[in-house]
Amino acid sequence: MLNQERVLQQIRINDAIFQQAPIGIAISFNSEAQSAEEVETFRINPMYEKITGRSQEELRQVGWASITHPDDVAENLQYYKRFLNGEINGYAMEKRFIRPDRSIVWVHMTVTRLILGDTLKYNHVSLIQDITEQKLLETRLKYDAEHDHWTGLLNRNSLEKLLAQHALVSPPGKRALFGINLNAVQTLTSTYGFYYTQELLKRITSFLSILCTENRILFNTYENRFTFYLTNITEADEVMNFAEEITSILEPVLLAERLNGGLGILEINQENSQDVNQLLKKLLIASEKALTLQDRELAYCIFDENMEAEIEREEQIKQELSCCAADPDCESFYMEYQPIIALKGKKIFGFEALARIRTEVLGFVPPFEFIPIAEKSKQMVEIGQNILIKVFKFLKQLEELGYEEIQIAVNISAIQLLRPNFYQSITGLVEEMQVNPKHIGLEITESVFMSNYLDVNLILKSLLDYGFHIAIDDFGTGYSSLAREQELNISCLKIDKAFVWRLGEIEPEKAILGDIISMAHRMGHCVVAEGVEDEIQLNYLVQHGCDHVQGFLFSKSVSEQEAIKLLQKNDFFMEKQRTSSSKKE
Ligand code: C2E
Ligand code: CA
Ligand code: CA
Repeated sequence: MLNQERVLQQIRINDAIFQQAPIGIAISFNSEAQSAEEVETFRINPMYEKITGRSQEELRQVGWASITHPDDVAENLQYYKRFLNGEINGYAMEKRFIRPDRSIVWVHMTVTRLILGDTLKYNHVSLIQDITEQKLLETRLKYDAEHDHWTGLLNRNSLEKLLAQHALVSPPGKRALFGINLNAVQTLTSTYGFYYTQELLKRITSFLSILCTENRILFNTYENRFTFYLTNITEADEVMNFAEEITSILEPVLLAERLNGGLGILEINQENSQDVNQLLKKLLIASEKALTLQDRELAYCIFDENMEAEIEREEQIKQELSCCAADPDCESFYMEYQPIIALKGKKIFGFEALARIRTEVLGFVPPFEFIPIAEKSKQMVEIGQNILIKVFKFLKQLEELGYEEIQIAVNISAIQLLRPNFYQSITGLVEEMQVNPKHIGLEITESVFMSNYLDVNLILKSLLDYGFHIAIDDFGTGYSSLAREQELNISCLKIDKAFVWRLGEIEPEKAILGDIISMAHRMGHCVVAEGVEDEIQLNYLVQHGCDHVQGFLFSKSVSEQEAIKLLQKNDFFMEKQRTSSSKKE
């Protein structure tokens, strides 16, 4: 009796566990069950009913497969068959059930064999736990990891993943990436604030989204950069046509915001498809290159290998420039001096100081290559100051050697001149280094007047008053206006090479150089002609009363020591006569 009671109690406990367990339990056995009693052997507990939203009766009728999410059925069935075959003794998976109200419940399901002492292979127990909340969180996290939260577009991670997948199994047709670089949007943030630019990016997103199809996926790969990934390209002109489609959509927006953008295009092929990082780097290079074209609001260009080399060189130059900016004695950075000859005394009147960079890796870097980089990377001001230090040192050396009337002209970049403290910094240096401003010429190009003509002219006046000479460099190439020249606070016009070189091509009476010289003289300005390479040009300049000449006919730019040697000899014209007579012999 006691024993029987114990058994009954055990049954009550087991039943209570089954009824109250916080986990869904389904016990099934005897699949071959035919009679009503045998069917009874399928049991589910209340938690199972709660999770699936179905009663035991209902479940028995419809079966689990029909209430499983269609996307999970195949996997579940596969496990189930292997389980029934005896291949595995149990399995665990995450799956979705569809409740009667069509809502979805995610469960973690563990299925294991139930050994009941008989031989029926069907016996098993299935435990399910509701993991819907975790799954929702997981989905949210996955979404966040794959999308830009502001534009809602797929992000760079997603593009990288997709490209990596496609590198393994190339999809059919050609593929290409279109990188839209809108870095200039950044400038709007400082004027109109963060939300203005963010809203603009949203608008741009909605415009670009019009172009999306199954084979044209849009990504927001970085703050102000978008990328289209095109697959299955079949038409020969599809790439170019698509570039035009992008530009025609974006250009009106950019025009309204007064912004420029760059569209880089990269075609993906067998060779380049493997390295996803490289693909995106190349795309960025092409878009940066397109940005520099500036021939329209959204210029575009296709990547080629030369661009990569170009960008790498630019990076190296930038690094070298940091040294030049930090230290006037930086080893790779030096000045050369090209003599300027006075046609009257036929002697060296002075020199133009020309900056040079030479390193083992880069070789010789011409100034037309490094000056724009220094200007772009904002290092020009420091470098310009160091150039002045070097030039003033040389000027002092010349004075000490007794060449007291020699003038050195230094090129001043617009960025330097337009700094609010340029006057203070250059005059401070003159005083500190004890040089005479009368021996210093400042060469500026006309482009400086484009920013603010009146203000710039005032700066020039203070510099002139201090004693510096001021020349307009490359005269005739910019927006030169002789009418305005009279008002300019300058002392000299430096005629651009192009004018001088034209002298050989046209009849002397048709050249306007003579008129420019006489007009400049009437305004009290001296005239220097640069780029003088032959006797025809020289003769013309002599005949038309040009004051100074500079060019390879006399000398290229030389080192300080060579410059001193030239001063010691100072016989360019004699030399010329000798060489021309020796040529005749
Ligand atoms: P630029 O001021 O017009 O300098 C004259 C350029 O013409 C120099 O080139 C000089 O070597 C070259 N040149 C002189 N005579 C002849 C000639 O007869 N034929 C030919 N074909 N060329 C001649 P470089 O040294 O390459 O300088 C190029 C430009 O770089 C300069 O043009 C100037 O704008 C800039 N630059 C050079 N040094 C400095 C500097 O210290 N500071 C700044 N801001 N710019 C500099
Ligand atoms: Ca110059
Ligand atoms: Ca020049």
